[in-house]
Amino acid sequence: MEQEKQDETGGKEECLLCRITYSVYPNFAPMPSAMALNAETGEWFPFDRLKSYSNGYEMAEALGYAWACDCRERAPDRFNERFELRDFTGNRQAGVCYRIRAGSRVLAKGVTDAQGRTQRVSTDNAKQVSIEVAGS
Ligand SMILES: [Zn+2]
Repeated sequence: MEQEKQDETGGKEECLLCRITYSVYPNFAPMPSAMALNAETGEWFPFDRLKSYSNGYEMAEALGYAWACDCRERAPDRFNERFELRDFTGNRQAGVCYRIRAGSRVLAKGVTDAQGRTQRVSTDNAKQVSIEVAGS
């Protein structure tokens, strides 16, 4: 190996997501004009930038799916989530009033963005989070 494995995972082995990501992107030929998409933010960035990252997690982060990573330490009391609203035909629902709750506690409220997404909310238990959408 040309590079010492970084130990950012707190001694845990890297998850499949990070390993596969890292096994795929560094092998691509240089593509100066190619762009890659951050699936989370919807922003495009130069594809070759992916190769400048030293591990799969950073690549996954750049591509917007690092949330699926299973090996990085997260703050123990924090679960980070946001919702994407679509109607039954799959169209994104922008400009919809929403309220995100954990039990009776309102974590966030607002209006969905142009992609139909809510803001992120942090909670200690993802299972309790629910979303209410205002009727039109
Ligand atoms: Zn991972």
